Amino acid sequence: MSTDQSAFKITTIESKQAGNVVNVIFDAPNAPVNVLNQQVFSELDQVLDTLEKDQSIDGVLFSSAKSFFVVGAEIPALLTMGKAQNVTGIHKHVRFAHAVLERLQMLPVPTVALINGLALGGGLEFALAADARVMASHAKVGLPEVNLGLFPGYAGTVRLPRMIDPLEAIEWIASGKPRSAEYALEEGLVWACVAESELINKGLDCLAELASQKDQVRTAKSSPITADAQIVEQMVSRAQALKNKHYPAAYLAVNLIAEQAMRDAAEASVAEAKAFADILTSPAAINMLSVFMNEQAVAKIAKKQAKLGANVAHSAVIGAGIMGGGIAYQAAASGIDVALRDINSAALEAGLKEAARNLELQVSKGRMSQDKAQECLARIDSSMVDQALAKADIVIEAVVEQDSVKQSVLAQTESEVSNTTIITSNTSTISIDRLASSLTRPQNFCGLHFFNPVPKMPLVEVIRGAQTSDQAVATAVGFAVALGKHPIIVNDGPGFFVNRVLFAYIIAAQMLIAEGVDYQQIDRVMQEWGWPMGPANLSDVIGLDTMVRCLDVMAADIPQRMAPEYISAIHTLHKNQRLGQKNGAGFYSYLVSGGGAPSKVVDDTALALVYLNRPAEISRKEIIERLSVALCLEAVRCIEEGIIESPAEADMALLWGLGFPRFRGGALRHIDTQGVREFCATAERYAHKGPLYELPQQLLDMRQEQNSFY
Ligand code: NAD
Repeated sequence: MSTDQSAFKITTIESKQAGNVVNVIFDAPNAPVNVLNQQVFSELDQVLDTLEKDQSIDGVLFSSAKSFFVVGAEIPALLTMGKAQNVTGIHKHVRFAHAVLERLQMLPVPTVALINGLALGGGLEFALAADARVMASHAKVGLPEVNLGLFPGYAGTVRLPRMIDPLEAIEWIASGKPRSAEYALEEGLVWACVAESELINKGLDCLAELASQKDQVRTAKSSPITADAQIVEQMVSRAQALKNKHYPAAYLAVNLIAEQAMRDAAEASVAEAKAFADILTSPAAINMLSVFMNEQAVAKIAKKQAKLGANVAHSAVIGAGIMGGGIAYQAAASGIDVALRDINSAALEAGLKEAARNLELQVSKGRMSQDKAQECLARIDSSMVDQALAKADIVIEAVVEQDSVKQSVLAQTESEVSNTTIITSNTSTISIDRLASSLTRPQNFCGLHFFNPVPKMPLVEVIRGAQTSDQAVATAVGFAVALGKHPIIVNDGPGFFVNRVLFAYIIAAQMLIAEGVDYQQIDRVMQEWGWPMGPANLSDVIGLDTMVRCLDVMAADIPQRMAPEYISAIHTLHKNQRLGQKNGAGFYSYLVSGGGAPSKVVDDTALALVYLNRPAEISRKEIIERLSVALCLEAVRCIEEGIIESPAEADMALLWGLGFPRFRGGALRHIDTQGVREFCATAERYAHKGPLYELPQQLLDMRQEQNSFY
């Protein structure tokens, strides 16, 4: 029945309480975790063949030999099916999975799933087919499919609402959040939660009890969810509230449950399979599955690099402003000692206060104990003693963005640290090679570009200069990983990767504004397209002074594309003392009320400064195309020039650093979604707008060879 290469191993247990019990152990060969796919369902089907026939069995346990129970369906297999638009194949696969799990549910003897660790997505759906579940107290269960643009397809939308309060089940599916063992117990989804070592024993007790109850359990799972029209109504209104045109999965799932609520499970399963095949072939699901794969690929690169770097126990941050204060907090909260320095004692004080405030926030949210917070705060040494730098494994320079100031701070730092200390700069615009010229050990120097606000933003660009050693890069990557961030290695160049791509987009927006297009319409359209905010609003949030500085750097370094002939609206507003959100006046004006974020309002003064005539509205399509094409082309140029290595890293950097819409997957994925030929044709329609729209050679070659990025 099971071979060495089979995912399932069978053992038998003679027990006093439950008699002759079979333990079906899921142990995917040569894999760190158990996942579900066509092959695994086929093997499970064969196991069930034997179990059904064996009349000597009194009960069956389903368990896992890995530290997790089952982490879900095999994502690459799902992505392949979705990308191939193989609706029939998906439907067939899902219906087969349904049939296998139904067979498991109807075994002649009672069954219990022993959930020893994470049981997510398909993993939980597998466990739902058993008569009962016993869970290790540290384990978690959940249906996170919405995070991948999907909903449960192995009868999760059918069984869960028939097993717990249906309105609660809807929240599990719509939120995608994992739930603790305690929570699952309270909801009645698990029979008991115990220490992991107790799972089998408790499972046997459960089997014994189920002997008289299993038929009742199975009937409930097969029947309609409810006969009460009011409950269905509540489901429908919950579905309506979840409507989101870019992320439709939660709405579709809840709507499906509501539609099937008064039907039996067999009918609901048919409906689920059909709906699942549709959603798996949708662009949003394909893009979000691809993001998941990219996340894994990028994390693997970082992990490999981190292993090659030196361990960082002591760090130092120079410049205790917005960024330095944030980095010091993040290091201390991650268990790394940090010496914090500033020339301004008030700034140092403010940096410490900010760290204390962030730690308090963690305590108030129940994520950290008061003692732990105190311990973290004590890791920040602001005494400014000389020896602090000598023992630092890594130093992060985060002083003001001025070339000469940074160069002198870096040279001074180098004279105080050891020969092996890695020195990094958090500069957002200054060339790493230029900064390295002030150092005698440039091999120990690289960029470490955190994003604002540091505690929230996941991305860190690790910038390799011409002379940076592999060891320096690896140590910087390891440090970022230790801080819980996602580091991505890029090569030195104007704006590095993220800001260079961002500024191509910003300049495309400025060009439209210079042509008289209303920036309020641009903001509205781009927000609807999926960005957290439009480009004028974003410029206000970053600060128009910072934007001017960056635009000037980009214009000087990439004059062919980024030095426009017109005066940008950003420059005009800045000249008129409008700094954006920080002084309440930019493209919009900002009202601060209570403790919340400032709210933006239309500002006639700004409009009068930017436009000579009444601003015009143009087609939505043109705004989207001109901004997105400029952004995507710059991302391609960065790949072509070797600024960033792979499409996966480029797309993840844009998601993590800029908030590029997740359901679109990133700039290069976006080109793939349209098709290279189609994308090039769109860009060519704007060729007359200048070099920002010129097709890079790589794209021309890809069009010729009918290639894609993924
Ligand atoms: P900030 O003005 O808030 O802080 C700079 C700090 O450096 C000040 O406290 C100042 O007193 C201190 N300083 C100046 N000269 C010093 C010296 N010689 N020795 C020690 N301290 C000195 O600036 P910030 O926004 O935190 O930016 C710091 C760096 O991070 C800049 O290079 C900036 O480009 C970069 N950055 C900023 C952001 C952002 O959004 N603020 C984002 C990414 C990167």
